[in-house]
Amino acid sequence: MPALRPGLLLPSGLLLLAALLLAACGDRDAAGEEQAAATPPTVVVYSARNEQLIGPMLQRYTELTGTPTELVTASAGPLLERLKAEGENTPADLLVTVDAGNLWQAAEAGLLQPLNSQALNAAIPEYLRDPQGRWYGLSVRARTLVHHTQRAPAASLSGYAALAEPAWAGRLCLRTSRKVYNQSLVAMLIAERGEGPTESIVRGWVENLAAPPFPNDTAVMEAIQAGLCDVGIVNSYYFGRLQRDAQDATLALHWPSEAVGGVHVNVSGAGVVKHADQAVAARNLLEWLASPQAQRKFAGDNLEYPANPAVEAVPQVAAWGAYTPNLINVSEAGRLQADAVKLMDRAGYR
Ligand code: FE
Repeated sequence: MPALRPGLLLPSGLLLLAALLLAACGDRDAAGEEQAAATPPTVVVYSARNEQLIGPMLQRYTELTGTPTELVTASAGPLLERLKAEGENTPADLLVTVDAGNLWQAAEAGLLQPLNSQALNAAIPEYLRDPQGRWYGLSVRARTLVHHTQRAPAASLSGYAALAEPAWAGRLCLRTSRKVYNQSLVAMLIAERGEGPTESIVRGWVENLAAPPFPNDTAVMEAIQAGLCDVGIVNSYYFGRLQRDAQDATLALHWPSEAVGGVHVNVSGAGVVKHADQAVAARNLLEWLASPQAQRKFAGDNLEYPANPAVEAVPQVAAWGAYTPNLINVSEAGRLQADAVKLMDRAGYR
């Protein structure tokens, strides 16, 4: 078996090769460890806030801190289902989503962990965050009245409840009750006024509708522009987008005064995922998003209000004027969401 002879020579050759390989591997390991020490671990972000808004923020954070991030975007519902299904194995570290109702659902499902962060508690007003510290509002959107400035002058408006009065018969346009934004608004009205009075308001709205509910806020404003109705309820940033796309002085936002309960606001926000591998890094990212450095861009890019009161809104948003927010904790939007859905159903609000 001549093959064995050279074969017999092989072991020493192999040993040398193995030694070389080991040395090489050793070097590579050492280099890898050095690299691991220099490069912070990647923070995986699940976001229902759209990619054009959250992507640039994460990029900026990476530039500033060297912390790499990975972004997964989807609608709130599927993201929450995914987190539930992944459980302890989730790669997610931070959950970013819109509407306090969704944030509340995530916390209620045990998907977020409580943070005791002085930085976050100082940056974000109490009514814009979870009382248990599991999520924090990062940007504020007002869900308020939008009106035709001639057909429904500002002086004729006085808030959400007044839109149920007969004076508005055939003059009101609303978005579908299926959207979480309206579920949250009605939940907040329940928190503020109780279920009975809120049901009367919603029944009055339905009676006053000029057309069946619209699929989105923009369609509500377009219906007012088209003369189909005179007043509606929308999130402030949709008005901002319409204004940015085409200046139209015939539409304006209206701020319900403090005397009638003030303006109902909602948030986009975030929380650290319960089973996050990088909980500390995720919390650092969240603290940065709430800081003055990040807040103006985070809110301004979507024409929202910064949740951090130390930061001014961008000029277009600031030009809509000051308003008094209703200070009921936005988490009520989640707690009372199921009641709101049932109430709207009873009231015939589709
Ligand atoms: Fe929206």
